[in-house]
Amino acid sequence: MWETAKMALEKALPESPITVEVPRAEHHKGLISCQVACPVHTDARGYVRAIAEGDFERAYLIARGPNPFASICGRVCGAPCELSCRRGKIPRTDDDSYFITPDRPIAIRALKRFVCESYGAEARPSTEILAALRGQEPTVAGDAEEMAFLLRHTVQGSFTPAKDERVAIIGSGPAGLSAAHDLALLGFKPVVFELEPVAAGMLAVGVPEYRLPRELIQREVAVIEALGVEIHCHTRIGRDISFKSLREQFAAVLITVGAKRPRALGLPGEAGPGVYGGVDFLRAVALGESLPLGSDIVVIGGGNVAYDVARTVVRQAAYDAARTAARLSGTRRVRLVSLETLEEMPADTVEIIEGDEEGIERVSGWGPIAIQRNQAGQVAGIEIKRCLRVYDEQRRFSPQFDDQDLQLLDCDTVLIAAGQATDLSFLEDGGADVEQFRPGWPKLDPVTLMTTAKGVFVAGDLAHGPRLLIDAVASGKKAARSIYQHVTGHMLHPETLMSFVRLDHYRRERGYERIRRVELPALEAEERLKNPQATVEKCLGEEAAVREASRCLDCGVTPVFDGSRCILCGGCVDVCPTLCLKIVSLSSLNPSQELTALVQSQLGESADWQDNSAILKDEDRCIRCALCVDRCPADAIAMERVTFRTDWRTA
Ligand SMILES: Cc1cc2nc3c(=O)[nH]c(=O)nc-3n(C[C@H](O)[C@H](O)[C@H](O)COP(=O)(O)OP(=O)(O)OC[C@H]3O[C@@H](n4cnc5c(N)ncnc54)[C@H](O)[C@@H]3O)c2cc1C
Repeated sequence: MWETAKMALEKALPESPITVEVPRAEHHKGLISCQVACPVHTDARGYVRAIAEGDFERAYLIARGPNPFASICGRVCGAPCELSCRRGKIPRTDDDSYFITPDRPIAIRALKRFVCESYGAEARPSTEILAALRGQEPTVAGDAEEMAFLLRHTVQGSFTPAKDERVAIIGSGPAGLSAAHDLALLGFKPVVFELEPVAAGMLAVGVPEYRLPRELIQREVAVIEALGVEIHCHTRIGRDISFKSLREQFAAVLITVGAKRPRALGLPGEAGPGVYGGVDFLRAVALGESLPLGSDIVVIGGGNVAYDVARTVVRQAAYDAARTAARLSGTRRVRLVSLETLEEMPADTVEIIEGDEEGIERVSGWGPIAIQRNQAGQVAGIEIKRCLRVYDEQRRFSPQFDDQDLQLLDCDTVLIAAGQATDLSFLEDGGADVEQFRPGWPKLDPVTLMTTAKGVFVAGDLAHGPRLLIDAVASGKKAARSIYQHVTGHMLHPETLMSFVRLDHYRRERGYERIRRVELPALEAEERLKNPQATVEKCLGEEAAVREASRCLDCGVTPVFDGSRCILCGGCVDVCPTLCLKIVSLSSLNPSQELTALVQSQLGESADWQDNSAILKDEDRCIRCALCVDRCPADAIAMERVTFRTDWRTA
């Protein structure tokens, strides 16, 4: 009779009652942790399973549906989905010969890249992609409901489009362009103003080319333009056009200028030649501008941006050496100084390993005190002191140093990659009512993203501080919905729809539980340095991608138990390879209010807790193998697929 229940107190003493969670709809939604973790709620499980089934175009459409930057995300997304992937979290079992524990998450980002390379902006012109997304071509397998799910963009239901009202967007980063994408779909004429010669914000002038090819950026942006989005590059608001005039001429203004100013550290000797912001350096390289670097370079910072800077310097050095024989003798040294020790560094492990391979020297656990300059004013070195701790007990940034443990690193250039700041100077003309809670950071309504100035919205890094590209995408889409409501007066309401479908022919791939995570193919260090622009990470081949996808535990599928059929034979418990099922007496359970309600609804008010039993299921361990279904002689267990999506509906 029992529904599945999660055993929350795994290590409870036998005599103490076991506390269980009675699963509700929300519980089932939470099981699909990859989809929940993605800021735009991409159904990662859905596209990974589609890849496992060889249905690659469908996989692409699932990935692209809610995310106008799917191809770029396939290359560089910070992938919160992978961090939450349950395959990487299954507790160790006693018998590791059957199931690999601890295991690693599915390579979701690399799988996204795999399908985008065949069906995304990399492979098809904008018209074809938009046609496929709109469902004008019979490219998708599945029923009509599923099509609607794949093709929903921004709004469902009795939707009244905007009437071509113009919306100004300042900044063409992922937040601005995602907002423009959705505003175009909502019936607006979005006009994007970008000060740089190229669109896409930090993706184009921050993320180095060896991680993200420039042509791919242009192609993904072209799909957004094909929706009718106007992008004006070389146009700085505050210089070429005033903020005031935008407010006068447009129905709404969205500010998505990011945080592209490097944050200074305020060190003695910092101001002057030879010290640059890391993001300024990356921008200069991306745009082919020259920035005079010396031959002995120190990068300050321990995160991914610091690695982007250091690895780009290494590539510049390799490039210069190849180009100019005279430079060969002055081979550059690149050192990366971080407050954090190696174990604490926030940079991704792959960055640290590949950085090591490329010759970056780490000076971990040290903080800068001062930059020394010679009499000519050139950088001569940097003084550093040992860092005793970076964070306090509450995990707040609060570095402490050993003032006695100092060293001087000789160097001629310092690149600082220790955070970014904003530049809102354009507000001086016409933006006095955009209040700031701290200089550079506008006050905003967290629900609508509207600032204190009516009709002026913010999104992206400017709204929530520097985060991931996919956070900027989510925030841009949210701003688009708010602008729609503000301009048209039609309200949009979120509606989460859940479906539960019994799977009578559920089968898993043979041996899927023992497959190890694929190692992502990458260029050798020597090749990387010979060809500084070459993309380091390679795409998975079809066989590797299908195999990797088959590792997905398909968390949305779950065994459900029909207590009226169960004969308590214990077969399901015996056969379960991860020991996630238990049969216990009802009396051993903590009679919480919700459990009592469930028991009474099934067995009546006078249920005998001594004489009845429950099957408990530990969700963390279940690998959806369905062996319990096969074993059950009473046909009391079935596999059920849960899916959810949130639609935005007009009233
Ligand atoms: C070096 C670097 C590497 C990164 N790598 C990754 C990664 O691998 N994965 C990941 O998920 N995230 C990464 N990020 C984070 C990600 O790039 C950002 O979170 C994201 O770009 C923020 O988007 P946004 O649209 O808010 O701002 P931005 O991308 O910063 O775009 C803002 C745009 O506004 C323009 N602008 C500013 N002022 C004006 C003005 N007055 N007039 C007109 N235009 C203006 C700017 O030129 C810029 O193009 C990285 C960030 C950096 C700095």
